[in-house]
Amino acid sequence: MALPEQPAASTADTIFGRILRGEIPCDQVYADEHCLAFRDVAPQAPVHVLVIPREPIVRLDEAGPEHAPLLGHLLLVAARVARQEGLTGFRTVINSGAEAGQSVFHLHVHVIGGRPLAWPPG
Ligand code: AMP
Repeated sequence: MALPEQPAASTADTIFGRILRGEIPCDQVYADEHCLAFRDVAPQAPVHVLVIPREPIVRLDEAGPEHAPLLGHLLLVAARVARQEGLTGFRTVINSGAEAGQSVFHLHVHVIGGRPLAWPPG
């Protein structure tokens, strides 16, 4: 007997989906029609903000050419947030896949700064 079909991966069930729907609160720093930016609940630096698209994209390698304007917008918002936070240098990180450390499967850009940042990252 065939197994029931698994539901398609969806960000609707992630914690970020719930934040976007207003079901749980966030410490918002920026919002527009395409994205939302809020402080990470477990900051890795004095400034640690997440920029997430309103459109549910699971991970970077599931984005297609049609998402190019949105992906560019997320980076411009990341830079805007960094300026807003008074950062003169900052790092943007997109973890794509569990192996790379992605734990929430709704695409997000980390904006990290406010302390010296070592390279290479861990
Ligand atoms: P990643 O490991 O790249 O998927 O990043 C997910 C990030 O989401 C982690 O840095 C978490 O600390 C952060 N995070 C998880 N839940 C929340 C939440 N409710 N509000 C803010 N940040 C969160």
